[in-house]
Amino acid sequence: MSFIADLHLHSRFAYACSKSLNLTNMAAWAKVKGINLLSGADFTHPAWLAELEDNLTPVADGYFQFDDMKFVLGTEVSCVFSQGSHSRRVHMLLFVPTFDVVHRIRAMLEGLGSKLSGDGRPIVGIPARELAARLFDIDESCMLVPAHIWTPWYGLLGSKSGFNSLEECFGDMAVHIPAVETGLSSDPEMNWRVSGLKGKTIVSFSDAHSLPNMGRELTVFEGNASYHDLVAGLNGNLVERTLEFFPEAGKYHFSGHRKCSVSQSADETARFGNICPECGRPLTLGVVHRVQELSSETDWSEEGFNRPYTKLVPLIELVAYSMGKGRTAKPVSSAYQRICAELGGEVKVLTQVGYDDLYQVGGEDLAETVTKVRQGSVQITAGFDGQYGVVQPE
Ligand SMILES: [Zn+2]
Ligand SMILES: [Zn+2]
Repeated sequence: MSFIADLHLHSRFAYACSKSLNLTNMAAWAKVKGINLLSGADFTHPAWLAELEDNLTPVADGYFQFDDMKFVLGTEVSCVFSQGSHSRRVHMLLFVPTFDVVHRIRAMLEGLGSKLSGDGRPIVGIPARELAARLFDIDESCMLVPAHIWTPWYGLLGSKSGFNSLEECFGDMAVHIPAVETGLSSDPEMNWRVSGLKGKTIVSFSDAHSLPNMGRELTVFEGNASYHDLVAGLNGNLVERTLEFFPEAGKYHFSGHRKCSVSQSADETARFGNICPECGRPLTLGVVHRVQELSSETDWSEEGFNRPYTKLVPLIELVAYSMGKGRTAKPVSSAYQRICAELGGEVKVLTQVGYDDLYQVGGEDLAETVTKVRQGSVQITAGFDGQYGVVQPE
């Protein structure tokens, strides 16, 4: 048994997130995508929590049911604190077993002065180590997973966080952090070069701020879609595979300045220094640069902890490409919906459905396009400084 999980999601109550992010739409899109387990998201927000409690039905073996979709209780918080005379901003994913635990966490955060009725991704003003300790004190089956660890501003290992390892951030609590979310701009292979991540389960989720972006990265866990099996999967690396963006497609793969149209590979930054040739200010250092800084000679992927992964281009982009139209064009979205409905969801279409079925349902151009991406026959322009990269079939 295995299940496909997207556990970094937001509701319409998180800043910069679509107003359409409600439970009904999220469950419907999860079916379009072919996802089995979702995070209920943003559980610290009072209005959203009320919706979760009204709609999610707890099921005995540790998950919640809504509209034939399974949910666990998970959220993201933004830890903002100072440590070693640096200010730190690190995003963390929390997973908890029950609404009772949610209420105790909310009380703890309110006691610390967190404002929970604003952003669905609240600011928590205590060091990450202390958050972890308080969380495990409330319930030892709570899970804490650093989010999108490489992104410059809010990633634990990102260029602005100032942390070079989980130990620096979590101290003695680091051993209780089972996993890291790698974010769009890195893939597992890049992470395997960083010895500080050895032994940590590598997971990928979408961090979607709108419905169509759900499932753009996913983790396939072993077991049944439940909180127990999620905990076991994170603790024991029971991951069958992760489904990934091409890391170049993420917003922070290379270093650069978006406003100055300057994009640099890590080698170029090493050669020219970390200064923008246009404006003279320091560049936003991307994920490749940080991975290179923190990587060691030893590649621990040889040691049995690595899991296979598949690089995907979102199906809507491939449909748009094969039709020669933009991804927001009406005929593109109706073709996308029809193809997903007829062929068992986006994940299956991208990873499993054979050429003949793709041809019959989506036409020759789509069958060719999907096959090219599967073979890695793509043209790539890397993203940098907040600008998405472009990956297109060759
Ligand atoms: Zn975040
Ligand atoms: Zn510049």
